[in-house]
Amino acid sequence: MSKLPNIPTSIFSVMSQLANAHGAINLSQGFPNFPVDERLLQISERLLRENVHQYTPMVGLPSLLDKIAVLTAKNYKRKVNTASELLITAGATQGIFTAINALVNHGDEVIILDPSYDSYEPSVLVAGGKPVRISLNEDYSPNFNTIEAGITAKTKLIIVNNPHNPTGRIWTESEFEALETVLDKHPQILLLSDEVYEYISFTHPHISVNIRPKLIEKTIIASSFGKSLHVTGWKVGYLIAPEKIMNEIKKVHQFLVFSVNSLSQHVISEYLDVVDFKEIANMYVRKRNLFQELLKDSRFELLPCEGTYFQVVNYKQISTKNDMDFAKELITTHGVASIPISVFYKDATDKQMLRFCFAKTDETLIAAAEKLSRI
Ligand code: PMP
Ligand code: GLN
Repeated sequence: MSKLPNIPTSIFSVMSQLANAHGAINLSQGFPNFPVDERLLQISERLLRENVHQYTPMVGLPSLLDKIAVLTAKNYKRKVNTASELLITAGATQGIFTAINALVNHGDEVIILDPSYDSYEPSVLVAGGKPVRISLNEDYSPNFNTIEAGITAKTKLIIVNNPHNPTGRIWTESEFEALETVLDKHPQILLLSDEVYEYISFTHPHISVNIRPKLIEKTIIASSFGKSLHVTGWKVGYLIAPEKIMNEIKKVHQFLVFSVNSLSQHVISEYLDVVDFKEIANMYVRKRNLFQELLKDSRFELLPCEGTYFQVVNYKQISTKNDMDFAKELITTHGVASIPISVFYKDATDKQMLRFCFAKTDETLIAAAEKLSRI
């Protein structure tokens, strides 16, 4: 018996494979195609020759944990206890899966806001939980009436994602206040806050749960160095959670991976001394603006993009095909790969929208936009 009978191969694998098979420009799966920082390479080359090849402690390399605590204090003025509230994970994916499987029991309900990242639902299903998919509003803001209506005595967890993949939207302060009010009424509910794009915000600053004292005590925050340092393949992320919750997560983590790749942890730990996250944010503002400028006279309609490195477009002026078919046609006929937005919804209702990743060299973006503008 399959544990995940209705879960297909991840759309990110499917679209990247199709892009490769057809030699298309790959703006589908979210990863940068520009070189990593030379300083990161130098640190890697030097450390490779040092004693960094055995298991780190189960919760993570102590120096990396310390630096994450310093970063969290600097960015959000939150003091995290490195010994009890932090855990290095094999990317945010493993962090999210581990947290859900440690905290969600058979029959527990988990509220997921659609459109939603593809790993949430399967993680809940493996835990024996019940995903409750609730749509965001048309403008992708949270709808607290439908969220409240979806809460039952069995609701154990709500998952939120800011800045949001795929839409790039970022919650406002009043939306967090409204969430606090809802959660106040239901003290049994925990919050999982996926903040892997915390450093990539454009129109207004990302509001981290790290700055919401009322939420901190019930929240697991997930982040990823893959996103913030352009090393998605290194698979290093982390969780922040209050000690009592973290103790449960650690119990599962130790038997899922025990500890995370040691070399990557050592390199990232040193690199955090020199990296400037503002520079990274500025680079992505420039890339977003460039991509939007390049497409402004095309027949694709650009939706607002407040953060992340994804641009959502609708193609209603171009085709009446559903978004999966149109995304495939875009690869095979026009040479550009994207992600159809319907895959982020429970019932795959067609939205006639696509997501493009602009974490690419300017040359790649220019070449892709040239093809897209001809359609
Ligand atoms: N959450 C979101 C919203 C993501 O977009 C991603 C991947 N890009 C992840 C989690 C997983 O992050 P990681 O690659 O560190 O596993
Ligand atoms: N998070 C990335 C995206 O949204 C992909 C991660 C993956 O391939 N699993 O494109």
